Amino acid sequence: MTIDYESEHHQFRDSVRSFVRERIVPHHEQWENDSCLDPALFTEAGKQGLLGFSVPEAYGGPGVEDFRYNAIVVDEVNRAGAAAAGIAFSLQNDVVLPYLTDMTTPEQKARWLPGTVTGETILGIAMTEPGTGSDLTGIRTTAVRDGDHYVVNGSKTFISNGQNGTLFVVAVRTSADKHKGLSLLVVESDTPGFSRGRNLEKIGLHAQDTSELTFTDMRVPVANLLGEEGQGFYQLVHNLPQERLSLSVGAVSAAEGVLDQTLEYVKERSAFGQPIAGFQNTQFVLAELATELDLARTYLDDCIRQHVRGELTPARAARLKWWTTELQVRVADRCLQLHGGYGYMREYAVARAFVDARIQTIYGGTTEIMKTIVAKDLGI
Ligand SMILES: Cc1cc2nc3c(=O)[nH]c(=O)nc-3n(C[C@H](O)[C@H](O)[C@H](O)COP(=O)(O)OP(=O)(O)OC[C@H]3O[C@@H](n4cnc5c(N)ncnc54)[C@H](O)[C@@H]3O)c2cc1C
Repeated sequence: MTIDYESEHHQFRDSVRSFVRERIVPHHEQWENDSCLDPALFTEAGKQGLLGFSVPEAYGGPGVEDFRYNAIVVDEVNRAGAAAAGIAFSLQNDVVLPYLTDMTTPEQKARWLPGTVTGETILGIAMTEPGTGSDLTGIRTTAVRDGDHYVVNGSKTFISNGQNGTLFVVAVRTSADKHKGLSLLVVESDTPGFSRGRNLEKIGLHAQDTSELTFTDMRVPVANLLGEEGQGFYQLVHNLPQERLSLSVGAVSAAEGVLDQTLEYVKERSAFGQPIAGFQNTQFVLAELATELDLARTYLDDCIRQHVRGELTPARAARLKWWTTELQVRVADRCLQLHGGYGYMREYAVARAFVDARIQTIYGGTTEIMKTIVAKDLGI
């Protein structure tokens, strides 16, 4: 790590690393078989102080506005090859929490924030629908005002933490206007009319519960609106850079973890009377990947530094997101190749890294959408 971490960060990293070694790695295979993380992981992480850094002390949190702590959690979990848990923590701390800390009234904060720190509340965000993903303006879930409530109808799909989640930020349509017609409602999962659909079968991230959600005449109090009606699109766009930064932290650390593990493997495995590490092809492939990861880490650290100063722009976050996640996919692919047939076996960490990496260039905004943001920033 090249970023400027202080002694408290190093101590925190040690405690996260122990937590990952003891509470995540030994259980991960079981969670993959269950297609879901054990929700107790969240309360254990809460006790360990891994959740809700930015929650003010008045609402039960440490009140630490320092993304380096967030990054350490995502970094350590992903480096250990537990991407499904990594994305769950990333959602809790980096993706959804900012809506609840930055866009809420004191009354809403008091209701929602304490549970996010203890892990009793598990967060999710529901934007994507069967008919629209990249194009948020295509959202069709409706929220119609009826007295003190909105009546919500529609369905969402591909929602992470969809089975375990207890509190969701839901993007809804409150009027026909393309952009100003979107609003964000916070929905408790025990609201009548809220139902979870299938836990979707994916090619990777097997321990992550990714689900459909359906809303049928679901009455959500107006008191659960985030900010003002019609601001949803702008609120989403405002928070996406941190989401993308967090995904990039996961990408670089997961790829570094795979590279380390592959370096061990090529020293142990022999062919034609010598370790495969002795072949020039192996050396060149690993030398190239190590160089690219060095670049990626330096670039990532610079973006984290910028973000801590409040200066990370949407365009830079988009550049970082597409480039680091595409690199992660390539690293996993090349490292799998160096494992030969064993790399195709689920019991090998590189196989999990390969399938888990593939989604990274899609969610949080696809590589193509990231490039449209960068191109717009270039004035074309
Ligand atoms: C495992 C998983 C977890 C997810 N978690 C969540 C979650 O928690 N919450 C949530 O709301 N969503 C979630 N998603 C949804 C995810 O964000 C979307 O799948 C993603 O944004 C892409 O949308 P789409 O699938 O509708 O693809 P589409 O938008 O249909 O895109 C299909 C293809 O067209 C390309 N394309 C689209 N528009 C353009 C364009 N303008 N220019 C060039 N190419 C374009 C895309 O890049 C892509 O290659 C998750 C998805 C998965 C698979």
